[in-house]
Parts: sequence; C-alpha cells; structure tokens
Amino acid sequence: MIELRSDTFTLPTSQMMEAIQQAVLGDDVYGEDPTVKQLEEEAARMLGKEAAILMPSGTMANLTSIMAHCPRGSKVIVGNETDIYIYEAAGATVCGGIMYEQIPTLPDGRLAIEDLESAFPLDPSDPQFALPALICLENPHNRMGGRVLPLSYLVEVQRFAATRGVPVHMDGARLFNAAVALQVAPSEIAQYADSVQFCLSKGLSAPIGSIVAGTHTFIQSVYRLRKMLGGGMRQAGIIAAAGLVALQQMVDRLADDHANAKRLAQGLAGIEGIVMNLEEVETNIVFFRIEHPNYTWETFVEAVQAQGLQVAELGHGRIRAVTHSGIGSEDIDLALDIIRKVLSS
Ligand SMILES: *Cc1c(COP(=O)(O)O)cnc(C)c1O
Repeated sequence: MIELRSDTFTLPTSQMMEAIQQAVLGDDVYGEDPTVKQLEEEAARMLGKEAAILMPSGTMANLTSIMAHCPRGSKVIVGNETDIYIYEAAGATVCGGIMYEQIPTLPDGRLAIEDLESAFPLDPSDPQFALPALICLENPHNRMGGRVLPLSYLVEVQRFAATRGVPVHMDGARLFNAAVALQVAPSEIAQYADSVQFCLSKGLSAPIGSIVAGTHTFIQSVYRLRKMLGGGMRQAGIIAAAGLVALQQMVDRLADDHANAKRLAQGLAGIEGIVMNLEEVETNIVFFRIEHPNYTWETFVEAVQAQGLQVAELGHGRIRAVTHSGIGSEDIDLALDIIRKVLSS
C-alpha cells in the first residue's frame, strides 16, 4: 500500500528503536529523566528559545500554549482554516474559558493584517468586549496546501502584535519543513513568534511527541498546564530518545519529501480529470480536485485505494496527498500510474 494520507503514518526508524532501547530513563514528573532534559535543551537551542518542553501531542502543545498566554474571558485570534480552530475540539474554550475569534485564511495561509486589526475592539476600555490576548499563526499551513509563511510576513505580524501588546503563537507542526523549504535555520522562523510548537511525530518520523518552546516563564506555565491536563509522563525518555534521533537525523532529508511532492504534483497536473495548481506546492503536501465525468472525490478515493494507494479528502472536497520518509520517488511514479489507470476507466 502506498500511504499518502498523512506524514503521521511514518514509523520510527531503526536508529530510533535502538535509541529507545538504550535510553537512560527516570521519572520526568520528578524532573529526573535525563533523555527528556536533553531533548528539551536541544529543541530550545535549535529554535533559539530560552526553554522547551516535551508534550504528548501537538494538540496539547497548542492548548497549553494558548492557555498560558490567554486569561479566561479573553479571545485568541485564529485563522478559520487552522488546525487549532478546526481539529482541536475547542479546547481553549472548554478548558480555558477562551473565545476563538476566527478570521479568514488567505489562500497562501496568511491572515491579513486588516483582518487582525478588525478583531480588536476600537475602544478596549468598553467592558462589553472580550479582548484579544493572542494571535495564532500556522506555518506551514496544512489546509492551505503546506504553504510556507514568508519571513517578511512574519515580521509584519510581529510588528502588528507589538502595537497591540499581544504575543504571537506559531503552530509549526511542520516547522522543519518550512525551514528546509526556505533554506533557513528553524530559529530564523521561530524568532518572529513568542511561542512555537512543532511535532516530532509527522515528517520527522518519531512515533510520539511535540515540543513547545518559548521563554523560561512561559514554559513554566505550560509545564503546570501540561500536568493539569494529564500530560505529565513518567519514563518519557523513551519518547524523547526517538525525538532526539528525529532532530539529529530526519531534518535534512525533508528536502526529499518536498522533491517527491513536486514530482507528484507535476505528474498530477498532466492527468485529465485532475485540477491542481503546481505553484501551491512548497513543502510535502499536495492538494488536488477531481473534475471527471465518471468520478467524484469519494469514488476516486475508493477506486485508488482498491489499487493500493491511500489518499484522503481534507476539506472542501479536495484530496490531500502527503509525502514522507516511507515514500520514495518510485512510489510516487507508482501512485501516478494508479491514478492514470483509474481515471482512464
Ligand atoms: C497535526 C497537527 C497538529 C496536531 O498535532 P497532534 O500531534 O496530531 O495533536 C496541530 N497543528 C497542525 C498544523 C497539524 O498539522
């Protein structure tokens, strides 16, 4: 089976399994797991932040970050196509008493500065209004096709946020894909946000885990919230050991995933019945539509699955294909053969 539904299907590498087996462990709720400490220090260093903390998931990383930044009764500004707004079960509202202010997401994943502006009440002293306490960006933007936010845009948002006195949180689930695409260090991107989360469990191919990075005081708040939400983990070094291998060995190879995504996109663009925009493909995510007399997206997904290819719908009837460490260029060619065969029938 060629698995293109998500880069979360990546299995731990043999080096990860070895590192897990040899990891020095302790109880991380006592702060005594040296492997977790090592991963947190390495992640903070790579992101250019004071401190970092290991989380069980990106969802908990975002939730604790939002709750650490936002008091109860305040608002968090999010794009209407973001993971935080769509896929995280309204955690900030449920757990933090925080209101989501959703604003439009531009096709390239940006939030327009004018739209950010309009989320702030003209008179903040008017007690009728909930006040925004945080701006969230997603980078790369999953549902906008893995688009990477330009550094010049991050500067603009940082400046705007400073004028309003609110911090910026970056949901960088695939932050390292953005860094590889822009050919910059991840810290060059992270410097424009007060806090950043990234997933070890996606393209970096670790089995479990996310990281939140920020200032020491911010990470202290996240640490408390992680415990409150049940995310304090005992011998978490078995997760951190794989995470360390991910950071050491799995970053540079993301360029191969990007090349394979382009290869797939170029092939798809030449197939009758498929609509896709090549320019949108900047990282490891490819979105396309089916416009075919015999197929809808539902029947297309079923038909290619029967031939050994897994893809999935991801919003607005679009089909998403994600490349990752389990996919080689020969798999891409096979996938294209399957799609050609299906659509010609
Ligand atoms: C996957 C993802 C998350 C959530 O991570 P989980 O580990 O699945 O909870 C958050 N944001 C984005 C953009 C993602 O792609």
